Amino acid sequence: MRTRFAPSPTGPLHLGHAYAAIVAHDMARAEGGEFLLRIEDIDESRARPEWEEAIYEDLTWLGLTWDGPVVRQSGRMPAYAAALDRLWNADLLYPCTCTRRDIAEALGAPQEGSALGPDGPVYPGTCRSKADMPYEPHPGPAHLRLNMARAAHTTEFTETGPAHPGKVTTTREDYIAQIGDIVLARRDMGTSYHLSVVIDDASQGITHVTRGEDLFEATPIHILLQRLLGLPTPTYHHHRLIRDDHGKRLAKRDDARAIKSYRDAGATPRDIRRRIGLA
Ligand code: GLU
Ligand code: ZN
Repeated sequence: MRTRFAPSPTGPLHLGHAYAAIVAHDMARAEGGEFLLRIEDIDESRARPEWEEAIYEDLTWLGLTWDGPVVRQSGRMPAYAAALDRLWNADLLYPCTCTRRDIAEALGAPQEGSALGPDGPVYPGTCRSKADMPYEPHPGPAHLRLNMARAAHTTEFTETGPAHPGKVTTTREDYIAQIGDIVLARRDMGTSYHLSVVIDDASQGITHVTRGEDLFEATPIHILLQRLLGLPTPTYHHHRLIRDDHGKRLAKRDDARAIKSYRDAGATPRDIRRRIGLA
């Protein structure tokens, strides 16, 4: 068994991150497996070296040790570009120059029942038939979108988390109607969360992906990309989200619940485990 924790160095780790890291770590250790660390720093406008340093410090303080070298996604752009080339050559991608506003206008007023995919409103397809746009895999003038009508197949994965245990099936029709032509390479990045996470989970040999329930809806995208790129599909475990004292989910940024704030206030790693229901 090999699990991973894959934080983005865009702010302090909070209690939700501590939970995600401990779940992945403890699952691997209980099986005599390996626990890997990956820094998801593809968004250069938001990633900071000091937040990456803070990740190592917080994990070490929590008593978590990771195996092997840390992978940083900013060093993996050639692997992402190679995957984009492959999808492009299979005629599964197209460039898109739409802004958020163009998309909102094309969709008109949000209507009852209009599909909201894992990345927001399902793309209306404006650029799909513009054959004259050049291929720009690296940061450039256009996004690269997946042509879902061509790419979609019915897929299945195994989920072991508490909310949806069992086989999860996504039909070809669900992909087209509920997910649509998602961006696989953002114009400012040359990649995307979905593409990078799939390529790196495969290259790190992750057998069990553990992560928050908030990413459950994105997982079918990852299963489809694995199939299109000839990569293995791991087992998935989407865990519960940590809530604040009012029952509200912790946001991606919740500095008040930063692990460091608890540490500075004299808490022990055991107190953290207790606070998130793990001790
Ligand atoms: N980097 C993502 C985050 O910080 C997690 C990615 C994943 O676990 O798949 O939310
Ligand atoms: Zn477009």
